Amino acid sequence: MKKSTQCVHSGAYFDEKSGGVNTPIFTSTAYNYSEEGGIPYPRYFNTINQEVVAQKIAALERGEAALIFSSGMAATMTALLGVLQAGDHLILQNDIYGGTHYAVREQLSKLGIEFTFVEGRKAEDFKKAIKPNSKAIFIETPSNPLLLLVDIAEMANFAKENNLISFIDNTFGTPIFQNPIQLGIDVVIHSGTKYLGGHSDLSCGAVVTSQVLIEKIHHVAFNFGGNLDSMACSLLERSIKTLAIRVKTQAQNAQKIAEALQKLPQVKNVFYPGLPNHPDHEIAKKQMKGGFGAMLSFELDTDKEGRAKFVRHLELVCKAVSLGGVESTLTEPVLTSHSKVDAKMREKMGILDNLYRLSVGIEDAEDLIEDLTNAIQTLEVSKLVESN
Ligand SMILES: *Cc1c(COP(=O)(O)O)cnc(C)c1O
Repeated sequence: MKKSTQCVHSGAYFDEKSGGVNTPIFTSTAYNYSEEGGIPYPRYFNTINQEVVAQKIAALERGEAALIFSSGMAATMTALLGVLQAGDHLILQNDIYGGTHYAVREQLSKLGIEFTFVEGRKAEDFKKAIKPNSKAIFIETPSNPLLLLVDIAEMANFAKENNLISFIDNTFGTPIFQNPIQLGIDVVIHSGTKYLGGHSDLSCGAVVTSQVLIEKIHHVAFNFGGNLDSMACSLLERSIKTLAIRVKTQAQNAQKIAEALQKLPQVKNVFYPGLPNHPDHEIAKKQMKGGFGAMLSFELDTDKEGRAKFVRHLELVCKAVSLGGVESTLTEPVLTSHSKVDAKMREKMGILDNLYRLSVGIEDAEDLIEDLTNAIQTLEVSKLVESN
């Protein structure tokens, strides 16, 4: 089956009694037991509503099995703890989601799990960090907020050659555009709060991997909880039915907006993997299929006053954190995702005060371009640009 079909039909549960086309919401937390065992219970991750949506996500990610969590962080940390133990060493890309960076630093050290954050995004950079006790690697692509890419197949091969388990956060890529398991990655993680939920009204997460690894991760999940309740599972199942059409429209809009922004003299740089001048465009073409995602960022050639003016003049694009919803939202990474990174480090990472990150929604691209253009055109064109 193709992905749009899987979005609608994979994992579907047919209720014989009512004949209804949707999975009923099973609210029970207490179930009959029998001698065969296998009693459903929410924290065992085995209720019908959990399993239905897990199967749908596993199918879309081309994985053997999945577990659904109450947040992306619950998914990430449970997956890591399912694989790592005291004395092991984890190698991570430095520009991963800030919350993951923080959780690794805060929690893994307490448990005696070593870790190294690597500046570069290539296998050769990770190779330098290998130790005799290295057990796993963790990557994220496209990255936040500069949309830089990691060559997934290259990293997966590197992990295999060195006997390391590979993790990827595929939140920005979405299961529609990017399937890391097919490229050799072992464990895929999603913050379902973003594109899978897609309406900025649901907190959830997912882990997709092999049957062998899911059992190890399930064991930790069982101990820590972090399960998603049936009502939210049902909302997530409903959301994923429209995932393919949503993200395709969002990515088409993002491409058009990126191209339009590039033409404005007040815009210094546009970062979008779908632009031919993006430094990682070739990698994007190789590993992203059907679209380049719907996240982009750009720098404005203006000062503090101009920045305030730009944001004030946006009428349609909403100034809000998080991403992946049907509505377009804008953040200033310096004030949001990277506010706790010190200014010098931010500069080194290329995250400047005039950088904006846009999560493109499903509105009409023309309206979005008009809104952004109007707000940007309130800014003076700098003399530097004019004289070019
Ligand atoms: C939001 C996000 C997370 C964390 O997900 P929560 O649902 O907030 O726990 C992890 N990775 C990425 C890339 C994210 O954007």
